[in-house]
Amino acid sequence: MRKVYLDNNATTRMREEVFDAMLPFCKDVYGNASSIHQFGRPARVAVDKARQLVAGLLGASSPEEIIFTSGGTESDNFAIKGVAHALAGKGNHIITSAIEHSAVLNASRALEKDGYKVTYLPVDGYGFINLDDLKSAITDKTVLISIMYANNEVGTIEPIREIGAIAKERGIYFHTDAVQAVGKAVFAVKGLPVDLVSMSAHKIYGPKGVGAIYIKKGTRIDAIMHGGHHEMNKRAGTENVPGLIGLGKAAELSGKEAPEEIVRLRKMRDYLCKGIASKIAHTRINGDPDRTLPNTANIGFKYLEGESIMLNLDMEGIAVSTGSACTSGTLEPSHVLTAMGIDAADAQGSIRFSLGRDNTKEDMDYVLEILPPIIQRLRDMSPLYEK
Ligand SMILES: *Cc1c(COP(=O)(O)O)cnc(C)c1O
Repeated sequence: MRKVYLDNNATTRMREEVFDAMLPFCKDVYGNASSIHQFGRPARVAVDKARQLVAGLLGASSPEEIIFTSGGTESDNFAIKGVAHALAGKGNHIITSAIEHSAVLNASRALEKDGYKVTYLPVDGYGFINLDDLKSAITDKTVLISIMYANNEVGTIEPIREIGAIAKERGIYFHTDAVQAVGKAVFAVKGLPVDLVSMSAHKIYGPKGVGAIYIKKGTRIDAIMHGGHHEMNKRAGTENVPGLIGLGKAAELSGKEAPEEIVRLRKMRDYLCKGIASKIAHTRINGDPDRTLPNTANIGFKYLEGESIMLNLDMEGIAVSTGSACTSGTLEPSHVLTAMGIDAADAQGSIRFSLGRDNTKEDMDYVLEILPPIIQRLRDMSPLYEK
């Protein structure tokens, strides 16, 4: 059976080149990057090179602005808790949005338990925050604004430049979770008013369990992982050398290929959306059609449960997700779609197709052949469906 993986916002297949780059560091080059003998030195050199590659991809002004972490989740926690702790003497308020990834939402909720105040900005029907809402949420106690660059479920790209300008004007740090934006949106911190940026290797064809955070030079932030003097005293723990080499390689390739890949993905995604709209009645696109990630299509199929669509597609070799990967398995409607004002039934009937570099137009044609009869069959069984 043909296998079509359309869940690239959940994770991506590691690239061959990435795996090849990592391999020596899993076996022969096993020294600790902090050791200064002949076993440690090549590991240190390779880790420094990886740092340069990530700095290059993000457009940082120096590799010292890149701190390696265990992934997007840790980077988000570090940004939010680290800044909140470092600036506790100045204020106890942070602003984020209702549609953030659970790493940002739950890190913020954890701070609330410790007495911090958090504002979760609402979004409109397309998933955009409102800049006036942001301005009026700011108080003298606000120390951090954390708004994602692009949403993982619907793809909406937030007005990052404008948000950063507001933060800057008020002297407030701005963190953005760019885990989905890296490699899929034109992204570089150079010239952008951002202080902290999260990214993750496994969303850009690198290994799982490794990521990075950009911390603009001079930003006040406390460590949240305490131990040795690794990562310029900002994040303790022996470096995951093979993982970091993989991250560096993935970053290098992403920087080279993204401009062309973005165009290719968008074309394929639009072809899929057009095909679905023309072959299947009662569908809707969730999110903004223009300011969106090029690889993401979140589509609502009225009268149906997303779970049954997903499972039926799975039996035909097609992998998609309902809501976000983190909430599937439960029947809670997605917090993102709910925040966009989509009612619970329509949210539950929504499917996310997220394309990646392995996908081809033939994959889209396969989906367009398999999906319509599945939808028809499920609707014929649905008590909600009236023709
Ligand atoms: C995947 C994802 C994360 C979490 O990254 P991990 O490396 O899996 O911990 C955070 N934010 C967004 C937007 C994501 O898509």
